[in-house]
Parts: sequence; C-alpha cells; structure tokens
Amino acid sequence: LHRNPGEIEFHQAVREVLESIGPVLAKHPEYADSKIIERICEPERQIIFRVPWEDDRGEVHINRGFRVEFNSALGPYKGGLRFHPSVYLGIVKFLGFEQIFKNSLTGLPIGGGKGGSDFDPKGRSQREVMRFCQSFMTELYRHIGEYTDVPAGDIGVGGREVGYLFGQYKRITNRYESGVITGKGLSYGGAQVRTEATGYGCAFFVDEMLKARGTSFDGKRVVVSGSGNVALYTIEKIQQLGGVVVACSDSSGYVVDDAGIDLDLLKQVKDVERLRVDAYAKRRGGEASFVPGRSVWEVPCEVAMPSATQNEITGRDAETLVRGGCVAVGEGANMPTMPEGIRIFQEAGVAFGPGKAANAGGVATSALEMQQNASRDSWSFEFSERRLQEIMRDIHARCLATADEYGMPGDYVAGANIDGFRRVADAMLALGLI
Ligand code: NDP
Repeated sequence: LHRNPGEIEFHQAVREVLESIGPVLAKHPEYADSKIIERICEPERQIIFRVPWEDDRGEVHINRGFRVEFNSALGPYKGGLRFHPSVYLGIVKFLGFEQIFKNSLTGLPIGGGKGGSDFDPKGRSQREVMRFCQSFMTELYRHIGEYTDVPAGDIGVGGREVGYLFGQYKRITNRYESGVITGKGLSYGGAQVRTEATGYGCAFFVDEMLKARGTSFDGKRVVVSGSGNVALYTIEKIQQLGGVVVACSDSSGYVVDDAGIDLDLLKQVKDVERLRVDAYAKRRGGEASFVPGRSVWEVPCEVAMPSATQNEITGRDAETLVRGGCVAVGEGANMPTMPEGIRIFQEAGVAFGPGKAANAGGVATSALEMQQNASRDSWSFEFSERRLQEIMRDIHARCLATADEYGMPGDYVAGANIDGFRRVADAMLALGLI
C-alpha cells in the first residue's frame, strides 16, 4: 500500500480480494513462490496524458487522461473508459484491478484494464463532447488495438462518446479496426444486446440468486440506484421478470413511483433529453415524487440493485435496507457497497451478488462483440441475449460451487474472488516470469 499512497479506492479493492484468497494461497504454495500477488497488484503499464480541448466559447481546457493496462495474461486488456470529475489514478486502478477478476470469471479470453478522464460531460454541448473525445483519442490511439487493449464505455461514456472515439481512431490510423473498441452503434460494427448487457446480466444474476433460495422477482419491490445505462436496462429486465421497480436516482436525488417506474418516460427524460431525474417526477404528475439530495436506500424494498457508482451503500444504508426487508442485493455498479455494508448484508443472510460477478454481463457481451468483429459477423438479438443469460448462469453456478469447495456456502464474494483469481494466476504461472 505504501507504494501507492492516497489511492484509497484501489486499496479498498485490493483488500477485498486479498481477504478472500487466503485459503487458495494455502492450498497452492506455487502462487506465493512466484509472487503472483505482488505481480497481480502491479499494473503491467499505466499511461497518464494531457487532453487539451477548446469549448464553444473558445476557452481552452486541459484535462488528464488515463489508461491503466493491468493484466494481459488471459487476453488483450479490456475495460471501459470513465469520464467523471472524480476520476484520478486511484479510481482507474481500482476499476482496472476489479476488471482482471471479472473478465476472468466470464471464462472469455480478455485481460483487465480501465481508463478515463476527469472531464465532466455534464452541461457540455454535443460539439464540446466530440472535441474532447477527439483530443482524448489523439493520444490514446497509440496504446490500443484489437490485439492489445480494447476500451469500452463506463460512467459518462455511452454510445455517443464511443462513436466519436472510434471515428477519431479510424481517422488517425486509416484502419477500419472494429475490434479496437466495444459498445459501438449497430450501424458501424456494434453488437446486439451490448447496450442492455450489464443491466440485463445483473437482473439475470439476481434472478439466479433468488431461484437458488426458492423464490423469484415476481411481485418483488425493487429499488435501483442511478438512471444511466446500467440502471435503465436493469429496470427493463426486472420488469420483464415480474419485479416492481419503485425508485431510481441520479446525483441530484431520487424519485419514488409506487405504481412502478414508467420506463419509457424515464428513458425519454434521461437518455434522450439528458435531463435530471426530477423531470421524471414532474412529468408523471401526482404519481411520483422527487426527493432531492438524499440516498435512495431509504426507500424500503426486497431487492436492491446499486447501479450508480462506488461506495454508494454505506454501513448505515445496509442496516436500513435490512430493516426494510431487503433479501437480495445485486451490484450493477463497481464496488458500490462499502466493506461494512457487505459485512452487514452477509451477516443478515441477504443474498449478496458482488459487482465482479453480477455486472460481468457487460464485458462478456463486449467480448462477444469482439468475436463478431473478428469474424465479420453479426448475431441476432435473441441469440445474443441467450448467450448472455447462459454466461450469467454459468458465473452464478461457479461462484456457488467455488464457495462450497472452500467451505463458505452461499458466499458469492469469496466464490467470485477465488474463481476469478485462480484462472488468472494459473495463466500467469504458465506464461513464466513476465
Ligand atoms: P452512466 O454514466 O450511464 O450512469 C451513471 C449513473 O450513476 C447516473 O445516473 C449518474 O447520475 C449516477 N452517478 C454517477 N456518479 C455518481 C455519484 N458520484 N453520485 C451519485 N450518482 C452518481 O454510467 P453506467 O450506467 O455505465 O455505469 C454505472 C456503474 O456501473 C458504474 O459503477 C460502472 O463502473 C458500472 N458498470 C458499467 C458497465 C457498463 O457496461 N456501462 C459495465 C460494468 C459496470 P448523474 O448523471 O447525476 O451523475
């Protein structure tokens, strides 16, 4: 930790994994002998760069760009780009570190990486966002490629931004290298179900957890935090599975709609018009109410789906949720639950699906996009969704089986960390000291 001062989110993510894998190290002394832990915690490469751009008034701005290429034992580095003012090296490293194990868990040939910038897209015009993306890619292009490092979206980077980034890559390199980035639009090499994949996958994962306990989403009261890409498609799939999503949020506050969120309206407000979530409540008339500046976790529910950002569920929020009757939590976001919160959920017997497992459907479908790009093929929506569902079932089953194997039945955190770690560690051993 002393080698990475101040990177608190990175420390938190490392600690969580290391706490789980003690029993594996005891069983496999060869991992310790070849210093797998020390190697896996050190990124293979980290790139930090200047991103200069000009706003619509002609004022010059300088942002900082990052790409942390963490581990390529299983395949090219793979992980999204985040544009948010809170981004600094510690956030990018925590996300990159998590990504190694998540990608391993999918069983697909992808290594781990992550990137982004402290650029704040809020309130920026489309042309400003485009100029920023072009400047960002003007440096990033020399570090990525379909066999090297394949970025995608994350907070603040959706289909629009991926389009601008890919366009600039294509322009600079004069190569139509579709497999260099995922999350592309369907008209230029994107894959069916990629947009929906993280949210759908998370709902599938929680559905499996509920089934393992002899229940289902049917008629359950659900709260989803956030109202971005992951949240919207989590809500969509839960509604299809019979759940009633009664609240969602953004950084300004949350809305409660006891009749169930009107998803078409929410998409119109958040995705099309890019407004704040209070606009949803206004347009719903008396049906829904907006609560500014408070945590959505005060709304009682049976299932909680944190889908906004890291550390959004504190220990106190977890206590409130348990008291309100929460029986399952599926992390759509990365590391949304603080360590104290995880402990409270697990002690209360709540089925807790950690992000590494529950939100792996996004990157898994990105790997399927890479497969389609490599074979110049495109699969149907139904086929792609079936593949996603199979992958999520398989991840769920392996988490449970691994937790059982190590004497921690029902502990999805241990199952995910151990299973993800073993595959990467074995590949690193096989590849020698690199
Ligand atoms: P979006 O930018 O589409 O949406 C993010 C949502 O979370 C917005 O509603 C945003 O509100 C809210 N939010 C973000 N930061 C904060 C904050 N600091 N406090 C309160 N609310 C916040 O991002 P995604 O939906 O893509 O990502 C959400 C989470 O899911 C992230 O943790 C991401 O790493 C994770 N994830 C995403 C995947 C993907 O495929 N996109 C894959 C796997 C994980 P506001 O607009 O007000 O900021």
